[in-house]
Parts: sequence; structure tokens; C-alpha cells
Amino acid sequence: MSNLALLGGPPALAHRLRPYSSVSVREREAVASVIDSGCLSGYYGTWGKEFFGGPQVRALESNWAESFDVPYAVAVNSATSGLFAALGAAGISPGDEVIVPPLTMSATVMAPLIYGGIPVFADVEPDTFCLDLAAVEAAITPKTRAIIAVNLFGHPARLRELREIADRSEAILIEDNAQSALASEQGHRAGTIGHLGIFSLNYHKHIHTGEGGMVVTHDSDLALRLQAIRNHGENVVLEAGIKDLTNMVGFNFRMTELSAAVGLVQLDEAERHVSARIEIAEYLTQATRGLEGLFPPQVRTDCRHVYYTWTLRVDAKALGLPRRVFSRALAAEGFPHVQGYVAPLYLLPLFQHRRAIGSDGFPFTLTERAYEPGLCPVAERLHFDELLFFETCAYDVGKPELEAFANALRKVHDGRRELLDLTS
Ligand SMILES: *Cc1c(COP(=O)(O)O)cnc(C)c1O
Repeated sequence: MSNLALLGGPPALAHRLRPYSSVSVREREAVASVIDSGCLSGYYGTWGKEFFGGPQVRALESNWAESFDVPYAVAVNSATSGLFAALGAAGISPGDEVIVPPLTMSATVMAPLIYGGIPVFADVEPDTFCLDLAAVEAAITPKTRAIIAVNLFGHPARLRELREIADRSEAILIEDNAQSALASEQGHRAGTIGHLGIFSLNYHKHIHTGEGGMVVTHDSDLALRLQAIRNHGENVVLEAGIKDLTNMVGFNFRMTELSAAVGLVQLDEAERHVSARIEIAEYLTQATRGLEGLFPPQVRTDCRHVYYTWTLRVDAKALGLPRRVFSRALAAEGFPHVQGYVAPLYLLPLFQHRRAIGSDGFPFTLTERAYEPGLCPVAERLHFDELLFFETCAYDVGKPELEAFANALRKVHDGRRELLDLTS
């Protein structure tokens, strides 16, 4: 009988994995004290101290700014809200082009559309999966108003170089840093190298408040605009001294005191949570050493990868097995993972049918840009043929599980010839 679980052998990991929890008694106590105070949100939508939120929200912002070494941090109720506020604050107007990568969570690419901006897709690097500099350069036109760099899976995009391109092109660099808190490039924290950086505090990220987000910036004008968009800014532009009324139509993107209280503890413990994920990832990377056809995540020189996910790139030719079959065999061994990430976003019905805001095709009525399949071949190949990923933030794994995962990788790799019958 085969040793491979898919062919009837014993699985490398026989028990189910527990979900990882970053929440402890400290968060419970923090929330309890907010409940005892009776004030679960400190906001008013009018000018005054309360325009900026309650004491927990303001403490979280102040600690966040200090921790990330930026002058301004603006708390919001999700990274999606943060992205919308960032694009609004950046002054995006109908017809403005915003360069985005195709491999990201959809909110990155929806944010420009909210303001009538045109997402322009630039392909990614085959090894870090973040924006490719040459593709970005080629996508720049006189209409380019912003670049959204996504620090994907925990690894920073080429941020310093993207910032140079943005500055040279009079565009704003926005970092979608939802997946990469505490990552860095050349000693600078990811999220703080662009003009604006967005963090997510949703349940699936390294640290979380259930739902939540943070936007950071070095620019006081951008910070005030973010605060206005977050909280019904239309009412306060006079008192706030905001002269340029562009995009000062406000929302309610306010974080509650409860979430902020949790966030204060999570931020305090962030390095511990992140280090634990890095340890898991580095173990798995070590375990794939020398396995032909399998490529663990690449870390660029001078970068810190924080492994929101640990990826494995499968070269089917070198491995002698398509990803699909390798993945089935790995799953049978008890190693949880996903094939691909999200399909390149220009393949969404919204782009294929050019229908976003209203029913007449706005804002696509303002552009000749096409969104055909094949637009970003590297992203398509990664998603459809090569990538496997393991969510390091999702599971509580210790030494026994890691050893089982390493064993699973080796077993399937060694026994891959036995799986050839399944490829037809
Ligand atoms: C999670 C995520 C978001 C959205 O975060 P929310 O807080 O859930 O709105 C945006 N971009 C990326 C890359 C993400 O991973």
C-alpha cells in the first residue's frame, strides 16, 4: 500500500487544527472597563473635541502613531473604509487613473471607483507577487493621480522605488498595508513609506479588533481630510478651515470605543503575534529546502516579511505534477491550504461588463482602457497555475503540527510519481 494519504496511507497530520486566537484576558478587561463607563462611542458629527472620537479611539491613534513613527494615525471601522477615505483625501476625481495590482483583496480596487477614478492594472513580480516597477512605469499617463501598492501576504512592495516614481509623476502613493503590519523595507515600516498607508484590524489579520482599520500619513492636510471623510465632514469644513471642498462628502467610518480598547491591547502585543507567524513560516520554508519544483516565499534584501500567509509556488514542469494534484495530495495529508489567491480582479463581472456606479457605465464611460483576460499574465499564471497558500494567521500550530506539515511536503514530493495516474 502507498504511504500517501491520498492513496490510502496514513495522513501526516491526523487531528484537526485549532484556530489561532490573539485575544486574551487583557482584551476582556479593557472591554469591561469601557462597558462600565457606559460610553461605547465618543463621537459627535459636529465640530469640537468629540469630532475626533472618544478617549479610547484617540489613545489608540496616538499609540499607533508613536509605534509606527508617523505624526498622524486616523482610526476607522475597516481597512475598506480606510481605503475609501484615503482615495477621497487624495482628491481622486472622475476620470483620474489609479494604478493598482490585480492580485489583492477587492476593496483595494473598488476604492478609486467610489470617486469615479479608473483602476489601471499593472502586473506583479513573479517572486514577491507585489507591483512590478516596469509595469507601473509603463502604466503611467498624464492622468495618473495615484498608485496603490499592496504589501501582499506580509511582504512589502518595492515601496521606496514606487514612492520615487509617484513623486516624479506628481502622483500619490497609497499603501494597502492590510496584510503587513510590522513588515519593513530598509528599516522603514511598511505603511509609512507612501503618502498614505492603510492597515486592517479585521479578524483574519495579525492583530484585530473584530472589524477595524487605521490610516497613517505624514501630512497634516491629508490627516484632516481623512478625519472629515470619516465623520460627516460636510458639516465642519468651515470650522475646520478646509478650503478645498473636493470629496468632503462625509461618511460614518467611526470606530467604537470597544474596538479601540481591544486595539490598544492588540497593538501592545503585536510584535509577539507577528513573531509567532514568522517562526511558523520560516520553519515551513526550511522544510521545502531542496524539494525540486517547489518555491517558498522570497524575501527581498533588507525587507521584513511578516507572513500573513506562507506561500508555495509550484512549478508543475519541474515537479512533474500539476498544482491541482499536488494540492489534493497535500490536503489528504492534513495540511490546510488554498490553491491560488483571488482571480485577477479585472476578471470580475464589474470590469468585464463595465458597470460600477449607476447604470450608464460610469466611470468606464470616461476611459478607453480595456480589461481583457491576459492583461496581467504573471498574476494570471500565479493564480491559476502556481500559487498555494497557507494562512499562518488562522491556525494555532506548535512543533508537532509543523513537523507533520514538513513531513507532508516531503511525503508528497517523494511519492509524486505514484500520483501520475491522477493527472489525466
Ligand atoms: C483584508 C484586506 C482589506 C480589507 O480589510 P477590511 O478591514 O476587512 O476592510 C483590504 N486590502 C487587503 C489587501 C486586505 O487583505
